[in-house]
Amino acid sequence: MRGFIPINWAEIGTLSFLVWVSVLPIPKLRFHRYQKSMLTIKIIPVLEDNYIYLIHDPVSKQTAAVDPAEAQPVLDVLAENGWQLTYVLNTHHHWDHTNGNLLLKQKTGCQIIAPSAEQHKIPGVDRAISDHETLALGAHTATVMAIPGHTLGHIAYYFGDDGLLFCGDTLFVMGCGRLFEGTAEQMWTSLQKLSDLPDDTLVYCTHEYSQANGLFAQRIEPDNQQLKEKMQRIKQLRKQNLPTVPSTIAEERATNPFLRVDQVSVQTSLNQLQQDPVTVFAELRKRKDTFFQ
Ligand code: ZN
Ligand code: FE
Repeated sequence: MRGFIPINWAEIGTLSFLVWVSVLPIPKLRFHRYQKSMLTIKIIPVLEDNYIYLIHDPVSKQTAAVDPAEAQPVLDVLAENGWQLTYVLNTHHHWDHTNGNLLLKQKTGCQIIAPSAEQHKIPGVDRAISDHETLALGAHTATVMAIPGHTLGHIAYYFGDDGLLFCGDTLFVMGCGRLFEGTAEQMWTSLQKLSDLPDDTLVYCTHEYSQANGLFAQRIEPDNQQLKEKMQRIKQLRKQNLPTVPSTIAEERATNPFLRVDQVSVQTSLNQLQQDPVTVFAELRKRKDTFFQ
């Protein structure tokens, strides 16, 4: 006969103990923060003065090619290292940044990532990407920065945790891109965004223009000591036919006249003392367009 269930105090005791244990905070397990394995960057010089960058994550084995002007040199470096191409990352629509897209996609099955504002001008786009959007390369994250000026839809890929910036034809070592589509104001705003990144951010631009840019920069700021020192290093590198990239944001802030239009030295040499930055920037860009040493 059912009905009377004797209370089993021992069972209740066990049960309440288990309930009590289950609400205790779980002791924090101390995981070691393994340092993220670094991304490997390969610099591939192509055409007259272009660079294609391969970004490889040794953990996930994912690889991205930034601004492939040509496909074959990328395929060669991939084969040499036994890497598979995951992505092409285009910064803007100019042919010397996109010409390798279709062949790379055909040969490797990679995905092509390109700025959404220029996707119809870029061959083979799989994913159009805009300001603030992110892209994962293994455990590494690239954030897209809209930096119009050279072209209207120009973007940069910024790997914030890794301190890497791929900025196409916007910020160059000691220089900046020409204003093909945008205004001086747009370019100045874009350069300021890049200039605000952390000091030690490595700057990978798409062209080797450093020597010519430096000569112009020295014309504008002949007494800039850091600029003098940087030019010495750059001359040595170029003598050995070595790339002058990457630069850093701190070095660019100290030596790149286009990031220094608020400096009295730059304003004085342009006869633009106390003018607003956009006006000084526009004048500086105009002078550079017609500068032949
Ligand atoms: Zn360009
Ligand atoms: Fe270019």
